[in-house]
Amino acid sequence: MILDCHSHIASFKYFPVEFFRGWSDTIKRTLPYTISDSQSKKLDLLFDGLMDDSECERLTIEMDEAGITKSVLLVIDFGIVYKKYEDDIEEIHKNHVELMSKNEKFVSFSGVDPRRGKEGIDLFEKAVKKWGFKGLKLYPPCGYSPSDSSLDPYYEICSSMGLPVLVHIGPTSAALPFKYSQPIEVDSAAHRFPKVNFIMGHAGVTQYKEAALLAQYRPNIYLDISGFQGELSHGHFGKIMEWNISKGLSKRLLFGTDWPIHRFFGKQKKWVEAVKDLERKKLISKLDLENIMYNNLNQILFSEVEHESK
Ligand SMILES: [Zn+2]
Repeated sequence: MILDCHSHIASFKYFPVEFFRGWSDTIKRTLPYTISDSQSKKLDLLFDGLMDDSECERLTIEMDEAGITKSVLLVIDFGIVYKKYEDDIEEIHKNHVELMSKNEKFVSFSGVDPRRGKEGIDLFEKAVKKWGFKGLKLYPPCGYSPSDSSLDPYYEICSSMGLPVLVHIGPTSAALPFKYSQPIEVDSAAHRFPKVNFIMGHAGVTQYKEAALLAQYRPNIYLDISGFQGELSHGHFGKIMEWNISKGLSKRLLFGTDWPIHRFFGKQKKWVEAVKDLERKKLISKLDLENIMYNNLNQILFSEVEHESK
């Protein structure tokens, strides 16, 4: 069985076009050749095509092909940075509730920008207590630190209910600042709220050693390996995973896809097989693989006993 800790609904209802363009422009700029304006426009259309799955139908098919049992759909609150989304946050949550009610393959994490003040806290509380959201997703590139005290009320709720917090770490769309997406930004919150499990999105990517160091010394920090699809073709992925395992992090690594961001890389099955290859090549053990693919997230999300004993 496989659990995906990191995915999103693929639709411009949830991702601002400007955000998406910032990301696709980075990809275009880092191509080894210069592209013409018309090629650039064609690429934009191709990128836009990734956002064609507002009902998660394609995602469900790819999950089935890949053997992924459940995926966590993460809400990102872009509404403070991109004002046209400001009033949509409650509706965005409700759309996720509807999807979860129709398809038991999905669970969701609420997403609220802490600068929404009391209204934001109330929305988060309703999301987890009434609507069944299983955690909190934070997006620090929107302009706040995950250790900012304005998030303390959210973490208190997470602490009392045994809910995890998934924090984006590392670079993102060039449209947003990266200042608060360093691994160390999670440390103060994780230190002050030891009962809350913090999942570092993308395991630090380019700063994977710093992320691993924090996970090694903080028992409530986990690493989500979505985003390493890009490292696969360069041969870095196996080395990074070996590094993490060598630091004793077998029980802290979580499989993730970050659907739909890496759809160009290939289908979900390709990514699942790439992770399974680590075991086939003896870079990780069978138990490591089972921990990464299922056991660790299952423990965080579905093990009541673990929450009570902490
Ligand atoms: Zn993501």
